[in-house]
Amino acid sequence: MPLPTMAGMSELVIGAHVDQTDPIAEAQARRAPVVQMFLGDPQGYKGPEVAYAGGAAALREAAAAAGVGIYVHAPYIVNVATTNNRIRIPSRKLLQQHMDAAAEIGALGLIVHGGHVNKADDPAKGFDNWRKAVEATDIKVPLLIENTAGGDNAMTRYLERIQGVWDAIGSAEGADQVGFCLDTCHAHAGGNALESVVEDVRAITGRIDLVHANDSRDDFDSGADRHANFGAGRIDPDLLASVVRDAGAPVICETPGGADEHVADFAWLRERL
Ligand SMILES: [Zn+2]
Repeated sequence: MPLPTMAGMSELVIGAHVDQTDPIAEAQARRAPVVQMFLGDPQGYKGPEVAYAGGAAALREAAAAAGVGIYVHAPYIVNVATTNNRIRIPSRKLLQQHMDAAAEIGALGLIVHGGHVNKADDPAKGFDNWRKAVEATDIKVPLLIENTAGGDNAMTRYLERIQGVWDAIGSAEGADQVGFCLDTCHAHAGGNALESVVEDVRAITGRIDLVHANDSRDDFDSGADRHANFGAGRIDPDLLASVVRDAGAPVICETPGGADEHVADFAWLRERL
């Protein structure tokens, strides 16, 4: 169930990516109504694990009781677009496993990177692999495809590729449950003008379901993916705030540090909304 979004108001829902052991305590330490976490190893094929004491059902109950919404970030290694069978097939499996686990904990959404095809591949193959992945996945909570900063032949770095993915998945069963997660660091480092990125993405996807609000340690179009705390990176502060404001979606800060740094980032952002 999506949280209500209040575009144009200062009461945007803002939280952070946190450690997965006790996301409720992490949310409370930040006074955040939403958090994001991994389920298990973000770099491994082993499959999701619920680290919370008592497991998935206990976490679901505790989150509901505390009024904390949880987003799950799929492992970074998931690449459902690739033409390499030995990566695409396990990626699909891992995505489904995370989808199942996300539903078990009552997550608000599952975020997955757009992935990429090999350097010599026709991107159209990646678009079609995305269609197949959506069709093959039993989507139980919204699947939010995130833009990436770099990667050779990436599916969701540039707008034209995002358009290709969306055109391909549009006809797939379950496409209405597929949304978009806009990462500000990735958009900037990926070479997309933040002045228009919200409008540009919405023109393609019709929706922005979640914002990953991050400053970037690197320059525009650098292709690098290194997040920074707000004001400590290369993104113009007003521009960063305007993206968050215009998107009008729940916000997850994936910025460095723990509760103190995140609380400072929330305050920095709220001051500028
Ligand atoms: Zn992100």
